[in-house]
Amino acid sequence: MFHHVKELQFKARVSRPDPRFARLLLEQFGGGNGELKAAMQYFVQAFGVRHPYPDKYDMLMDIATEEFSHLEIVGATIQMLLSGVNGELKNVAEESELTRLLDGRDSRDTYIHEAMMNPQFFVLSGGGPLVTDSGGNPWSGAYVNANGDLSVDLRSNIAAEARAKIVYEYLVQFTDDPGVKDTLNFLMTREIAHAQMFQAALDTIEPNFPPGILQGDPRHSNTYFNLSERDGEPIRSTWNQGASACLGEHWQFIENPRSYVRETDGLTQTEARGTVRTEESIRTQERELSVRRSREVNGASEQRNMEWGRD
Ligand code: MN
Ligand code: MN
Repeated sequence: MFHHVKELQFKARVSRPDPRFARLLLEQFGGGNGELKAAMQYFVQAFGVRHPYPDKYDMLMDIATEEFSHLEIVGATIQMLLSGVNGELKNVAEESELTRLLDGRDSRDTYIHEAMMNPQFFVLSGGGPLVTDSGGNPWSGAYVNANGDLSVDLRSNIAAEARAKIVYEYLVQFTDDPGVKDTLNFLMTREIAHAQMFQAALDTIEPNFPPGILQGDPRHSNTYFNLSERDGEPIRSTWNQGASACLGEHWQFIENPRSYVRETDGLTQTEARGTVRTEESIRTQERELSVRRSREVNGASEQRNMEWGRD
């Protein structure tokens, strides 16, 4: 269960209303890389790992809970940046709270103009955050990646943290407000911290590559198809020569893919090269991994009754 503590994880501060930036900041409230997406992604991923991997369950729930706390900070900041919008709806008098906050009539007019650039703040939310991105697109559960395999989910999370981080980095360039900058810098830094937590968790799972159980076909796991040229020459680099990063196989560079595909009858008549992995060694590995992983998952749930209350 959740228990709401009535204080923010980080003290949010705003020097003056700014509806233009409030709108941009919606990206981190209801956007595809925002705090709600992160919170929901880790929360949903956690369910399936509660019994087999309780340490990962705790980590996912802790980070999900922190992301909800970030959502609260972003929402609070948007609310403060929209100060006066709600009042304006109810008070057309010039001597409004807004005029005082903004220090003068000109800035008040500018403010109203900026707020009108996103009329949703006026006509829908009445001057508060909306569960949309900065373009007004409603938040979607399709943003949430949960695939029931920790090595896959943790990689999704590392990618999600990278995207959240860069969106904060872009956002911070669109405000001069020192309080808002402080908050964004905190939120951005936490995504850097989370990325490392997910990476460390991934590293505790061995083996974690390739994801899942099936090891793939050693005839195709280290081939690079030369499908473009620059100045008549193929580009050679670490992704197509030397040892491959995860499996440590030797990259096989296929200089002329069209004739190679034809000669091998559509890649069906090829042999594994540059690898010690064979069809047989892979089958053995898959059998072992399959037994190990299903024991981890089934073993954990068999030990417990079908009850979910206290741990
Ligand atoms: Mn966050
Ligand atoms: Mn995060």
